[in-house]
Amino acid sequence: MNSSDKPVLLISEVGPRDGLQSLKSIMPTAAKKAWIEAEAAAGVREIEVGSFVPPKLLPQLADTAELVAHARNIAGLTVAALVPNLIGARNAIAAGAHKISLPLSVSETHSLKNLRRTHEQVLAEVRAIAELVAGLPADQRPHFEAGLATAFGCTLEGAVPEDQVVRLAASLIEAGCAEVGLSDTTGYANPAQIKRLIRLVRAEVGPERLTGVHLHNTRGLGLANALAALEEGITTLDSSLGGIGGCPFAPGASGNIVTEDLVFMLDSMGVSTGIDLKKLLAVREIVQAALPDEELYGFTPQAGLPLGYERGWGLGTATSSSHSSSLP
Ligand code: ZN
Repeated sequence: MNSSDKPVLLISEVGPRDGLQSLKSIMPTAAKKAWIEAEAAAGVREIEVGSFVPPKLLPQLADTAELVAHARNIAGLTVAALVPNLIGARNAIAAGAHKISLPLSVSETHSLKNLRRTHEQVLAEVRAIAELVAGLPADQRPHFEAGLATAFGCTLEGAVPEDQVVRLAASLIEAGCAEVGLSDTTGYANPAQIKRLIRLVRAEVGPERLTGVHLHNTRGLGLANALAALEEGITTLDSSLGGIGGCPFAPGASGNIVTEDLVFMLDSMGVSTGIDLKKLLAVREIVQAALPDEELYGFTPQAGLPLGYERGWGLGTATSSSHSSSLP
């Protein structure tokens, strides 16, 4: 593992989108701006600030265009947004998003329910967006990525065939996406499956076309899955501050993997994320104050940092023989 200060792992904060979209509470725009600013100040270099879906469907994210425009003023921050279709992509580009992600659900049942589109219809949108992006002046083109949702299993279809994930990844690249990501939308994935699917998809589209995964902690395997992805050479991990979003099917379980816990794991292993963990932990106060009725998750924030904690704190501490002799 690299222990220099140059960040080797990109954490993409998705709380303002994936977290907030599943809450009943609507966070005020000013609080969202304060959250985004504070997290960027803590060293987070990419934030998905919202989704360009009709406000009627997701009133929680109705202010996405304003947030993109605001976040673009933060130096060094990649401003990402989710787009469900061509109209959403147009709006995201008009607002100035650096990166746009379109979800394609590998489970077609989920695709019909979530986006009201078949795979063919989604691929047609992808082609239209790719054309739109290619037609822009080079310095105005957003990075266009597709997320393979329900890649590890679906609450409607159950198991999802791996060859279907691979086939759709190839179709998305062919349709003009720069990159695909693997999303464990339902929290079904296990570490062995994560490794296998990353290898299979990379063998089909090339390692440079799959650099990120999106994980949920629904069954408590989020960090194990993140580590498995890291060992396969994945360099971008999505996570959500406070793991907000929850999961209606698993009371007490967080939604996305918790940014604070993920940064603690990586930071203590000596894997640089560029994020200041103490500053990151302080961002929770902003989010909790703006969402007084919602529960924030995370083990590290609740337990606190280990005594005398600093970066790479856990490196080499088990080498002394007096430690190993005291193991049960
Ligand atoms: Zn998600």
